This record gives sequence, C-alpha cells and structure tokens, in this order.
Amino acid sequence: MIHYKNKLQVELVDLHIHVGGAVAPHIMWSLAHQQGMKLPAKTYWDFWQLITASPETVHSLEDYVNIMHQWTEKIQSSPEAIQRCVYSIIAKEYRSSNVSHIELRFNPMKRNKGGEMDLDHIIQAAVHGLDQAVLDYGAKAGLIFCLAREFPYELNEIIVRKAVRYFKWGVVGIDMAGPEKRTFESDPDFKRYVTLFQEARERGLGITVHTGETDATGPESVRQVLRDIRPERIGHGIQAAKDEALMKELAVAGTVLELCPSSNIQTRAVEGWQEFKEIVAKFKQYGVKFTINTDGPYLLRTNMKKEIELLLENDVLTEDELKQSFELARSVSFIK
Ligand SMILES: [Zn+2]
Repeated sequence: MIHYKNKLQVELVDLHIHVGGAVAPHIMWSLAHQQGMKLPAKTYWDFWQLITASPETVHSLEDYVNIMHQWTEKIQSSPEAIQRCVYSIIAKEYRSSNVSHIELRFNPMKRNKGGEMDLDHIIQAAVHGLDQAVLDYGAKAGLIFCLAREFPYELNEIIVRKAVRYFKWGVVGIDMAGPEKRTFESDPDFKRYVTLFQEARERGLGITVHTGETDATGPESVRQVLRDIRPERIGHGIQAAKDEALMKELAVAGTVLELCPSSNIQTRAVEGWQEFKEIVAKFKQYGVKFTINTDGPYLLRTNMKKEIELLLENDVLTEDELKQSFELARSVSFIK
C-alpha cells in the first residue's frame, strides 16, 4: 500500500488553514459548473492558473486575499458547495500528508452571497461536511469562524453569535482576518471587539487573531492585540521578531504563533527562506511558541508534507523541533 508515511512519527496537526485557499481546483471547477457560473477562464488550466497563486499573479498579501475574494468565496457560496469543500479539505489533508487533526477556518458571511442565502443553512452544511469527513477518515476536525477586518462591527458580531450557537456542533473558535491595510486595533470599534472576544471566550470558544503578518502593521499591532484581546494564538505574528520586548511578552504570555511558511514567502511578507529562518531563530532564542501550518495549500500549491520538507531543507527547523511544534499544536488546539 502506498501512503504518506510521515518521518516525524508524530500526529500532524494543521491549525491554520482557510477554506478559501484549500479546495482542489478540480473540485472548484466542478462546483462552478454545477452552479452555472460564468467564468473568465475557458479551459480548466486557465481556471487553475486563476485560482492558484504564482509569482506572476501574487505580489502581496492583498493579491492573495483578492483571489479568494473574487473567485473561491463566490464558488463556495451555497450549502452544497461549502459542504463539499469542507469535506474535501479534511479528506485531502489526511490523504496527502497524513494530517489527522485540523482546524479549518472560513467566514460564513462571505459564503452567503451578501445575505441572499440563509447563514444557518451555510453553517449547517459546513458542519455536515465536517462530520462526514471525521466519520470517513477518523480525523479530528473543528471549524473556526473568521471575522473580517473590512466588515462593520455589527456583521462581525453576528458571526460571533453564530459561532456561539454552533459551538456544540463543531465550531471551536473565532478569528479576525482580512487585508492588513486596515488594522484591527485602529478600528473605532476596537473596544467593542475586546468585549466581544471576551464574551466568546467565556462561551468556550478559542480565540486567534491574524496580525503582524506583513510590515504594513508591524510589531505594534501584535502588541496591542496581545495586551487587549489576549488571544491564545496569533495567526502569523512574524513582525514580532523585530521587537525584543514584544517577543519576551509573547513568551511570558505563552501565546502561540501559527506560522505559515510558504504563505509568507508567496505573499512576499518575507523575502525568502533566509529571512524566514532568521525570524524563526529569533522566536527560538526568545522562547516564543509556534506551530507550523499551511494557510491555503491549494492556493499556495503546497501541503503539510511539503512544508515539513521545505523547513528541513532550508535548515529552519530540525526534525526534533518539528516534532515539538506538532505536539504543541495538538496541545493548543481548540478541539477538546
Ligand atoms: Zn490565514
């Protein structure tokens, strides 16, 4: 039997993976056709080019987010589509890399055609897809709902209410995502967000926040999110490596950074592997905890197996350090 045997001999965990960047292009192609969508791509290969990132099409985090916004989110905007997407991601992560513990994130309000579709139908369909994959593959899986920086507070509040309602059915946490041009803490409603996140935590949801991914925000954003929101985990947070005091704070707080190596390189958040290696070396030096994640495997043309190989090849982490990062990932998972 041919299967991916992971040489680390430890359970592989992916805590940071977006539905918008993780569905195989052939499934997206079939879903788009099923829904009768008009596509700008005439052939499957043009479509593949359209919904995966390449150095020609992606020059920044914004370009990357735009692919998801313009195409994948639209194609995934029906109960049938989101169910198939959630199922297929968990199944594929398991088959390609033997990832058997996965927290999958998406924004349900970016899957309901601006309010035309009923949000509960979208969410329940996602939950069905999750349950089916868990049953078929024996994987552990949970959903994280992403709030959007570009949304008004009122919409984000609804997403949190839905996460609380579906907590028992597989929603395990909330996240704040979106382009970094508009930072979270500069939002006039930031104080209301602090309260909202606190309420979510009291209801049992895990908290993670995308921040410090690019130098558009820098270490200051990470610091404020850390102090005011106090998330258990931070998405990326690599800008913290520029600030010794902040790294010490992160280490003391025990906040875990969800690192996504290929993503940072593709979006040019870092120059290349050398810079990524230096960042990780700083985190090791200061005792900042981190996990390894794929972010958007299909969009980035990667998977967990490849991420592990790249980190070893580029001497970013040793096998032992990788093992530790996956053990840590399992212990800080929101799936209980
Ligand atoms: Zn992300």
